[in-house]
Formats: sequence, C-alpha cells, structure tokens
Amino acid sequence: MHDASEVLSRIFGYDSFRGEQQEIIDHVVGGGDALVLMPTGGGKSLCYQIPALVRPGVGVVISPLIALMQDQVDALQALGVRAGFLNSTLSIDERQLVEAEFLAGELDLLYLAPEGLSSGSAMRLLERGKISLFAIDEAHCVSQWGHDFRPDYLALSVLHERWPDVPRIALTATATTATRREIAQRLELTGARHFVSSFDRPNIQYRIVPKNDPKKQLLELLRTEHAGDAGIVYCLSRASVEKTAEFLVQQGIEALPYHAGLDAATRAANQSRFLREDGLVMVATIAFGMGIDKPDVRFVAHLDLPKSVEGYYQETGRAGRDGQPSTAWLAYGLQDVVQQRKMIDSSAGDAAYRRGLAAHLDAMLALCETVQCRRVQLLNYFGQTAEPCGNCDTCLNPPEQWDGTVPAQKLLSTVLRLQRERNQRFGAGQSIDILLGRRTDKVAQHRHDELTVFGIGTELQESEWRGVVRQLLAQGLLAVQGEHGTLALTDASADVLGRKRQVMMRREPERPARSSGSSRKAAAATAVAELPAEAQPLFERLRAWRAATAKEQGVPAYVVFHDATLREIAAQAPDSLAKLRLISGVGENKLAKYGDGILEVLAEA
Ligand code: ADP
Ligand code: ZN
Repeated sequence: MHDASEVLSRIFGYDSFRGEQQEIIDHVVGGGDALVLMPTGGGKSLCYQIPALVRPGVGVVISPLIALMQDQVDALQALGVRAGFLNSTLSIDERQLVEAEFLAGELDLLYLAPEGLSSGSAMRLLERGKISLFAIDEAHCVSQWGHDFRPDYLALSVLHERWPDVPRIALTATATTATRREIAQRLELTGARHFVSSFDRPNIQYRIVPKNDPKKQLLELLRTEHAGDAGIVYCLSRASVEKTAEFLVQQGIEALPYHAGLDAATRAANQSRFLREDGLVMVATIAFGMGIDKPDVRFVAHLDLPKSVEGYYQETGRAGRDGQPSTAWLAYGLQDVVQQRKMIDSSAGDAAYRRGLAAHLDAMLALCETVQCRRVQLLNYFGQTAEPCGNCDTCLNPPEQWDGTVPAQKLLSTVLRLQRERNQRFGAGQSIDILLGRRTDKVAQHRHDELTVFGIGTELQESEWRGVVRQLLAQGLLAVQGEHGTLALTDASADVLGRKRQVMMRREPERPARSSGSSRKAAAATAVAELPAEAQPLFERLRAWRAATAKEQGVPAYVVFHDATLREIAAQAPDSLAKLRLISGVGENKLAKYGDGILEVLAEA
C-alpha cells in the first residue's frame, strides 16, 4: 500500500493537501463513508482518486457527465494513473476492452454513467471485480432540484445494500443544508461523516450591475478586462445565445454558441473547442457547464438574471478553478424581474412548486439589491458567515443607501389609482410616464393626465424610477402579473402607502466598480507569485509548446500542464529535471513525458 502523501507528490506533483483533503482521504482510506461539500475548484477529485490508488481494488466513480469522461480519463492517464470509463459512447470492442481490464484488476479508477447501473449487466460486471470504493460525483443530482439524472441517482442506494463493506464518498458543490440532508437520506449515507468546507471562492470578484445596454456593457467588460481570456457568457434563451455569440464574433471576439437547440454534434464540437483552445468565449444557456473542469476560465458573465442563488453560485463557480483572479459579472434589470415572475406564474406545477420558485427568485433579487458585501450575502445564504471581502463591487465601490419611501409611495399610489379609479392595470413604463408627466399618445388616449399623480415624480429620472420599481419588486412591495407583466399591489404595499413602513433603496455608484489589478491580486486565494516581466516571453513560449503538444496528443492544453505550473516554470527557469520535478503540478509521469521538452524550450530561450 502507498501512503497518501507519497501518492500526492509522486503522481500529482503537489507538495501539500488543501483544506480538508487529508482528513477526507484518511477517512475513506480507512473504510469510512463520506459526504463532501466543497466549492468548485476546491479539489474534490483528489478526495476519491487518492484513496482509490491507495486501497486495493478499483475505484468506481459514478458521474453523469458522459461528455467529459474521456477528458477526465485522459487527464488521469497523463499522470500515469490506470483509468477507464464505460458509457454509451463506447463501441462494443472498446467496452469489452475496459471490462476485461476491470476484471483483471488492471484499473485504478473506472468512471461509470449512472444509467449503466440500473441495467443489470453493469451490476453483474461490478460484482465480478474487486472494488476499492464508490465515488458519487455531482451527488446533488439526487435532490429535487437536480432534475435530469435523478431517477438514475435514486437507484444508487442499492450500492450500499450490495456492497456494505465498500466505502462510499458522495461529492457536491451544491451547498444548502436541505440539499445535504436529502443527499444523505436518498443515498442511504446516514452513517457517513460530513465534510463541509467553506464555500468562499476568494479569487472570484463578484459584480452585479444595472442592465442598460447589455451587449455594449459585455463588450466593454471583455475588451477592457478580459481581452484574450477564456470565459462563459450565460443567456436565458436560445435566441439570445445565438444573437450574442454573433455579435461578439462581429466585434472580433472568438465566441461559440451552446444551447439545447443545437444538434448534439455541434454542441460536442463547440464544447471540445472551448476546452481545448486557449481564450475562447462560450455563449450558452445553463445547459452548458456542469462538470466543465477547465481550470482557466477567467470570467463568467450573466446577461440575464439566474433563477436562484444556487444556480448563480454554480455557474459563477466555473470561473477560476485554478485559484487565479477571475470575474463573475451579472447585468440585471427591471425586465428580468418581470420576465421571471411571468415564467413562474405560467409554469406547470402546483402552488407549492411555484412558491418554491418564487422563494428562489426572491433570494436572488435580494442579492442583486443588497447594499452589503455580495460575498457575505452569498455565504450567509449557504449558512456560512464571512467578513466584508474587499473583492466585490459593493466593497470596492460602496453604493449609497437612500430613503426611498416618498418615491415608493408615489409609485404605489399611481398603481392604486389606475386600479381603483380606472379599473386598469399597466406595466412599469406607463406608471413612470405618468409620474414624469409625459404626454405620450398612450397617456392621452387613456386621459391619464387627469390623474392627480400626473407629473408628481419629476424629481427622479426615468432610469431612477426603473430602479425604484425593481427594488419594490425585489422587496415584495409590488408584484407583476399576467402575460403583459402589469403592476399590482401586494399586502405589504398598504404599509408603505399608510406611512407605516420606511423603504430603503440602493443608489448605484456613479462609476461602476471595475477590478483594479491590485485588489484582485491581493484577494486571489492561491495565486502564484506574480510573473516578473522578464519571464513573460518565456511563459508565452511555454504556452506555445503546450498548445503544440496538446494538439499532437489530442488532449486539452490543461491536461498537459496548468497555467499556474507553466508560470512557475517560467519564473524559476529550472535547468535540470531534478529542479523541474520540484515545481507544483510536475509529477513523476509528466516529468518523464514532458521534462526534456520543457528543458529544451528553456535552453532555447
Ligand atoms: P473540484 O472537483 O472540487 O471542482 P478539482 O478536483 O478539479 O476541483 O481541483 C481543482 C484544481 O485544484 C485542479 O486543477 C487540481 O489539480 C488542483 N488541486 C487539487 N488539490 C490540490 C493540491 N493539494 N495542491 C495543488 N493543487 C491542487
Ligand atoms: Zn465584498
């Protein structure tokens, strides 16, 4: 048997464990069950890969991410780990080869799609081999918000019945207590030890900005802060994915679309290019991204409001897995709220289901409208405490709070008068036109200039009024209804109209926060020492060598070496294999495979 630290250094080339990795690994190596909650990029994979290498037998990894299994296995093989996978993409011959390797004990790790297990043949195969552990990745798929793979995941409780002595480790980056409880219960992991890490991702800078001209705002972000970087842009609809990708391409930015309406081959090709090439932008619906373990995604931008804080955190979590400074940017406006409320109202499902959706949306809106540190609010949502972070928009450029009670009353009373005196309902635009005293055709047609509230709101500009409406919606003091998103009062509106309740609002800072290099770097979690300017050309050479090597071997660039490893090589310029081996991320196998190539690049330079 190998000792875990020895495996960490020899195979993976790392010199120390991160966070709770060591404790988790010791527990599983000792035969214990574990439920591991760790944020994306926290280092979950090692928690089962190392025990699988240390314990006798094959580690079986259940993962729903069929499209990514090949890359995961390639990455392990590049480290010299004997890994294979079984899923529906294999030919019969390939399948038989992997099965034979499994039975002969020639694998350390076997990746399996969950649907394989419900079929009897996979179970029979597993029964004939020796299993060291079961790892259940993306374990939140058992919960009700996990949708797609749920039935297959629910069937995983049989593992415990058939293999009571084989340790099981369930892993997820989805964090609420309710989800955790459900995972433990559904997978019959009742005796498992829970390992809950901090969910903070200190290297990600969170920013939420009012949406004015989203395409232009996005372009500015990409041009000024993320030129040449890989990143993901999330949009709500397929149409907006297409339009946004097209727009970016017109602007000279290499962007690819991804949504469920594209055929499988195009989706696979776009995903593969995103993973393999440097600096591509993926414009996608949330159909994209689960399990994407590209370490150098530098930004995640949302052009539409996510439906829940969980979703937002998962999606933004795809940035900066390598611990380097990254940006999570969201543009959000009144129209988002109206649209999402409409979608909830018209969704299939019973009242309780709709209430669940509404509660998720409310939590997301509260995050958007907070005047406090975004990170504090996010972590609180997941039941964890934090100090103001210094690396989010509200910390970097605090918004003012102002007493918006009077404007709130004016707006609510406009809605009330339209309803009471005219028996009419309108959207936000008409109420704002009335308050601003605009004699539009629609105002004239409905004689809204005769209302007593006509023209009483000239102290604010239109954009400010939209902010007022948005914040009233976020605070539940106003509602939107029906297909046209008309405004309506809520029970709580009466308190504001009756002067029993004060309404505090957020005023956007004049200049929206922009990441200054220094604050981002100061906050980066595991940022390597900044690359000295003279090492930059060497780093570029190493990247070019990596791109060529990866292409030749048909693997993503990061499977060869991560950016962080290349950067350290550039900074230290080791002149021998022995010195190269000391660099984080250079294990025995990669040294043997790439060592001479690297030294050659260094010698040439
Ligand atoms: P997760 O699955 O939790 O999102 P991964 O297992 O993909 O995270 O790990 C994220 C990154 O951190 C990977 O690039 C991995 O190689 C690296 N990593 C994990 N553990 C360590 C460690 N102990 N030392 C250095 N790097 C690590
Ligand atoms: Zn903050």
